[in-house]
Amino acid sequence: MERLKARAIQVARRAGKGAAALALHYSGAREFLSAVQRRAVGGRRVLILSYHRVVKDFDEEEKRSLFSLNIEQQTFRRHLEVLQESHDIVSLEDALTVLNGTRQAARDVATITFDDGYRDVYAHAFPVMRDLRVPGVIYVPSGFAGTERRLGHDRLFAALRRMRERGLGPMAVGVGNPGERWLIDVLGGNPPLEVALERLIARYPTPGLLRLADALEDRLDLACHRPPEGELPLSWEMLREMDAYGILTGAHTAEHTVLTHQRLDDARREIAQCKAVLERGVRKPVRHFAYCNGYYSAGVAQALKAEGFVSAVTTEDMPNAPGIDPFALKRKVLWEASSAGILGFYSKALIACQFENTLGMLALQRPVMGARPTNFGSSGRPEDEQGISAHG
Ligand SMILES: [Zn+2]
Repeated sequence: MERLKARAIQVARRAGKGAAALALHYSGAREFLSAVQRRAVGGRRVLILSYHRVVKDFDEEEKRSLFSLNIEQQTFRRHLEVLQESHDIVSLEDALTVLNGTRQAARDVATITFDDGYRDVYAHAFPVMRDLRVPGVIYVPSGFAGTERRLGHDRLFAALRRMRERGLGPMAVGVGNPGERWLIDVLGGNPPLEVALERLIARYPTPGLLRLADALEDRLDLACHRPPEGELPLSWEMLREMDAYGILTGAHTAEHTVLTHQRLDDARREIAQCKAVLERGVRKPVRHFAYCNGYYSAGVAQALKAEGFVSAVTTEDMPNAPGIDPFALKRKVLWEASSAGILGFYSKALIACQFENTLGMLALQRPVMGARPTNFGSSGRPEDEQGISAHG
């Protein structure tokens, strides 16, 4: 019942946004609001988009993967084409020069980014970007590149789905504590599984979650499960080929760790490690970083600067204005549903409003903020967080 209600709210909200987007688009109000906002921020805006996986067939992939990270190749192409109507799509380096005031942009600019280093970015996004002559950045967790390892969130989602299919509750799978306690916490109220997963990642330390994934796979006979090819990590050859074209490799920790949950000393170690491994793999300096789950702190930002990084992106859904802190860059996370309007069909009006932040301005969409206190603590146990964020 709770799930049904949640789905109903989701559908209603989508129809609401879709209807609002249509009205705004065809009345010309979108362009007007955008001009007002540009004046308010004192210059051109920089929009940074975040994608994860780009798949051939969304419906087919939905059955076997964490669907809220996926966008279909055709939809992705449409996004870029619509974006090019209103923005110049530039490299992150160029976007940074607009933000620090050393370059004046003629139009609003946008930068395309991908998180997590999935193989189907090479197979399905790269050809589109080459075709449309669009540069970008791909943020890679260094412990996965060039391996066949699956990311923790994909493993946990597969395990949660198997639990639900088999009708197993948190106590019945027998993973022991603290995992059992965490599962009871996040499955409370029987939420959609993607919401339970977001709660796990937002509230508990990443190393503990990887141990929970091991235990669940063992109890649920998932250890030999072969994931879809596109869900596997990129190889070093693929990363170097994309880099040579203009899709730079950025860093995303070593183990896809939410660094604000770790002691600062451990966070520093992991930042240094991922930078060294990635630079060895792509054979050039790696200077840009993406915070996992979008969570950051003053201490983590300082550690990045000390290691030689020059920028870091969050998942705070807002446009960037000149003068912004380059270690707290805002990003809009998009997937297949982001441009699904009334009845779920692709809506150009809706995605155009997303790119212009029209819905944000009208308070139809609120950003989830990622700033957290610096964790100097010695226990290594993070405080429980209330907020739920988009994946970073
Ligand atoms: Zn990520």
